[in-house]
Amino acid sequence: MAADIYRELIALTDRLPLFDTHEHIERDGTGRYYGGDLFDIIRNTFYLWADLVSSGMPRDVWDPEEKDDEKKWTLLRPWLPNVVGSGYYRGIVRGLQAIHGMDGETIDDSNWEKLNARIRRAYRDPEWPMKVIRENTHIQWAIDDVDGFNMDRSLFLPSFKIDYLLGGGSPAGRELINEVDDVPLDTFDDYLQFLDRKLSQVKAMGAVALKTVTPYYRGYDYDAVSSEDARRAFAATVEQSTAHRKIVEDFAFHFILGKAIQLDLPVQIHTGILAWNTTFLPHCNPTALNPLFLKYPACRFVLFHGGYPYADELGILVKTFPNVYLDLCWMPWISQTVTKHFLEMWLELIPANKFMWGGDAHRAECIHGHWLIAQQVVCEVLSEKAVRGVLQEKDAARIVAGIFRENARTFFNP
Ligand SMILES: [Zn+2]
Repeated sequence: MAADIYRELIALTDRLPLFDTHEHIERDGTGRYYGGDLFDIIRNTFYLWADLVSSGMPRDVWDPEEKDDEKKWTLLRPWLPNVVGSGYYRGIVRGLQAIHGMDGETIDDSNWEKLNARIRRAYRDPEWPMKVIRENTHIQWAIDDVDGFNMDRSLFLPSFKIDYLLGGGSPAGRELINEVDDVPLDTFDDYLQFLDRKLSQVKAMGAVALKTVTPYYRGYDYDAVSSEDARRAFAATVEQSTAHRKIVEDFAFHFILGKAIQLDLPVQIHTGILAWNTTFLPHCNPTALNPLFLKYPACRFVLFHGGYPYADELGILVKTFPNVYLDLCWMPWISQTVTKHFLEMWLELIPANKFMWGGDAHRAECIHGHWLIAQQVVCEVLSEKAVRGVLQEKDAARIVAGIFRENARTFFNP
């Protein structure tokens, strides 16, 4: 009985054209996708790399220019057994099994060469990643977070990362804006006009969301600052003045939220665990966003990654505010067990139309592996609820389709 419902939900989602809310699939200037062998997938899915470094592996265990695969394998193989149980490793293996026919459950001496050769062969096709995403993972739309909107717009919808725009409060920040956008910002009015123009431009270019990765560089304490104070701070900024910089950053963030409302652009916010081997957990707690949710009821906020390890707090924020949504992107890949635990509770707390999912991967094989894990965990939670009788089967099916397609489709309206 339980197995039947689970199988039905898997079959339903196997046929579903997915709406994937968050990826990082990049191309170079000539339009060629990055990637090409097993070592690239392991190195550039830097989540797994971070776990390897956490286990003791030197961060640059091989030189980025190293071409000798045998040598790379010799350097990598002592560390891989440390992470075979990690979510990141399991996600990559699931993708490599499904896409490249990898034998076994671990990447080891018995299979790496054959697997590497298969991946190399596949990447000779310049459209390989798109084929995997479309045909294997059956994604219809994916929001892509890459600089410069360099993406195939028949599948990808751009999100626009706003973080560098906040840098008006320091000479280095203004320099970066000038480099990217060729706009010298001599006065505070120049800066505000630039922000206004830039956001209108990205909307006109098809951006469906703004994105911020705040906790990678500061906390969410975007204080309400008067324009007089911000103007004074802008005029007084020198490289060393973090106090002035923060005042301008805070003002700019509020300015951008006002513009997001005007342009009807949702704001995707990184919350919880960071990538790589760094974190400052007090900056990752979405509770600090609470004042913004109170102040901007007309702005649509999407909280990424379930906020883990602050998933309890995040759940209550999403439950409470009609304009705050929960995106499971990255989360099942981090840990299936954590996702299962929280999703089971969240479905009792949060209206079902507020959940979405995205892969948060840098290579197509990893999107697919994460999809398989996410599909499994979401279908497990929903089928178990149906078996316990707390949800009807038809509602379980509708909620699953909502998480992987319909909720995001309604929300982003592509
Ligand atoms: Zn991401």
